[in-house]
Amino acid sequence: MNVHEYQAKEILGEFALPIHKFVIVRDKKEIDAAIEKLGVDKAVVKVQVHAGGRGKAGGVKVAMSKEEIKQHAESMLGMKLVTKQTGEAGITCNEVMIAELADIAKEYYFGIIIDREHACPLIMSSQEGGMDIEEVAEASPEKILKTALTPDGTITDKQIKEIVQFMGWAGHTAEQGTEMIKKMVTAFMKIDGSILEINPLIEDPDGNLYLLDAKISIDDSALYRQPEIAAMYDPSQESPAEVEAHKLDLAYVAMEGNIGCMVNGAGLAMATMDIIGEKGGTPANFLDVGGSATKEKVVESFKIILSDPKVKGILVNIFGGIMKCDIIAEGVVAAVKEVHLKVPLVVRLEGTNVEEGKKIITDSGLKVIAAVDLGDAAEKIVLEVEGA
Ligand code: GDP
Ligand code: MN
Repeated sequence: MNVHEYQAKEILGEFALPIHKFVIVRDKKEIDAAIEKLGVDKAVVKVQVHAGGRGKAGGVKVAMSKEEIKQHAESMLGMKLVTKQTGEAGITCNEVMIAELADIAKEYYFGIIIDREHACPLIMSSQEGGMDIEEVAEASPEKILKTALTPDGTITDKQIKEIVQFMGWAGHTAEQGTEMIKKMVTAFMKIDGSILEINPLIEDPDGNLYLLDAKISIDDSALYRQPEIAAMYDPSQESPAEVEAHKLDLAYVAMEGNIGCMVNGAGLAMATMDIIGEKGGTPANFLDVGGSATKEKVVESFKIILSDPKVKGILVNIFGGIMKCDIIAEGVVAAVKEVHLKVPLVVRLEGTNVEEGKKIITDSGLKVIAAVDLGDAAEKIVLEVEGA
């Protein structure tokens, strides 16, 4: 789950990390009072949306007078921001941050992610902070230092020194940097983070470090023990399909292709994606119905998958363990009838009650293409979609 920049800063502020003061406005009527409360006559005004690249899209403005602060805040409230991360539809800004203006001498990058390959938190540090870190990673990867931590998030003094040196920090900046790195790692572990990204981390002309921008993503599986963060969930920042999936406690991932996929389990989702790719297709989305879906949930899942207009065909790939194939089959049949399915549907079932499941589908008389295994299923749906 993602949170807004201001929420990330509130979270990180609790770990005593250095952040400029800010206020949030949600209504044009609140702007004057907010400026008074912050006590500034120049500020940076920033749209709060779940997307990066705001600066380049006009979502971050420096204002040199109260009047200017107000103008920017007014024009940002309710605006639809289109950045390279949002797609054409854009994303609505319902909240605006007004923050003390930072005096920037240098912009750095500092991020922590989970490195899935090595199963550990990984710190990435760079002197090339600001708005184009993806390009830095691509064009000059040597400018990014990668520091792998132990799975429990332990960082050694030696590793901290390496980062401080790589950033070129000396004197009191090095001291602040050392503290900051420790706190950042502690925060990342405490909040069950999957991403903590500070871009930019800045140094002011006096050599003091501040977190100027902050992005946090939390591992969804850990939200049950992060109730304060779970409460920050903002459906206005998600697609209707994501909101619906969230309500039903289904894992939904939107992608760029045209094959809608219903699977159970993240591993099977990965395998399905790989094999679709191998057969020359691309998934439009993945919906993981999990291990305990009911017939009704399967019907709702179908509706979510179909709400994406890019979907030109559906692949159902279920390995029945706890989830029984006959339940899935009943759900599929009910869904096909209810939504008057117009796109081709390929179903591959395997596992518990598979024979009952297949019989339910055959007996329904509906046009469902059966597949014997995953390779066969992927091949069939790719053919169907291409022929469409
Ligand atoms: P993003 O584009 O969504 O990543 O938004 P950021 O919060 O990172 O802001 C983009 C850029 O705006 C930063 O890299 C800075 O160069 C600039 N910026 C943001 N806040 C301030 C500020 O307080 N003072 C100054 N001078 N520039 C700022
Ligand atoms: Mn940024």
